[in-house]
Amino acid sequence: MVLNIKRASSLDGATINVQDVLKPFDHQVGGHTPFTSLPNGHLLKPCEEREILFYQKMPKILKSIAPLCCSTIQGSSVSTLDDSCSNCRHHQLENVVIPESIEGSPILNKRKLSKNFIVLSDLTYRMKSPRILDLKLGTRQHGDQATVSKIACMTAKCQATTSATLGIRLCGMKIPFLEQNSQNFAPNFAPNSAAPNFAPKSEISINKYMGRSMDKTDLFLAVKQFFDVPEAVLEEVERRLLGIRDVLCGADGVRLFGASLLIVIESNFSDSQLPIDNLVRIKVVDFANATFGGLQGDSFYDGRDDGSILGLETLLEIVKGKN
Ligand SMILES: [Zn+2]
Repeated sequence: MVLNIKRASSLDGATINVQDVLKPFDHQVGGHTPFTSLPNGHLLKPCEEREILFYQKMPKILKSIAPLCCSTIQGSSVSTLDDSCSNCRHHQLENVVIPESIEGSPILNKRKLSKNFIVLSDLTYRMKSPRILDLKLGTRQHGDQATVSKIACMTAKCQATTSATLGIRLCGMKIPFLEQNSQNFAPNFAPNSAAPNFAPKSEISINKYMGRSMDKTDLFLAVKQFFDVPEAVLEEVERRLLGIRDVLCGADGVRLFGASLLIVIESNFSDSQLPIDNLVRIKVVDFANATFGGLQGDSFYDGRDDGSILGLETLLEIVKGKN
């Protein structure tokens, strides 16, 4: 069958067959709507209008800790943002047609296609074997516009998990198996019954449901296992986390409700051609419920986001091994 393309939203240049381009993103962890890989290190993320607005109006101070947002797609309207990546700025992004309907696609069938998308930089770009950790950040996850029942549900989830006390909750984790790193993969993480027993010599994968069932000890064990990397890489991690914490400390009035800290590290240390500062990529993602400056009728907040900063402090504590 042929793709039924009704929406011809082009990003630039000539058209490519959507089936050659839109492949499900292999490295997704956490509980997000499915992303799609685009050429030249980009991801297509279905989103609500509000997240587009957040990226468009994002306070300058947050830009260094968020992924680059190169384009926004609202219905048939595609806009390229001023601070898009160098690939986009130099018009090297191959054209992508985003179909309105995905009827007949062997790759995309059963996936509902959103009306709105953002095109973000892919943190795993050019990594051979990325290990990925998605930590929900902060002690509160609901946005100001949440319904009463949603507030109750999300507050209960925070209270029942490590979110409320530690400011982070494991939302997804993947560590690829690599023969040369097999010493790192002893099954030393054995949390309560909801989590699997990891066999050595296999990929490690933890989903958001396992993350919700973790107590502090489980969380620390899992995250320590994630950070079982060479010392120089760990130093880079610490440097990045300190940088993000400093940004958050200076981000007056910003509240990162529902956002995640996404940490990507190249596991294939010996083969990687990447310089050490590019083996570690850490960004804050998922701004659907985050707010600043009364965005879309939200409350105005003063001072720093203590919940998110608590999460960074917890993570720094784990990385520094002070427990
Ligand atoms: Zn770009």
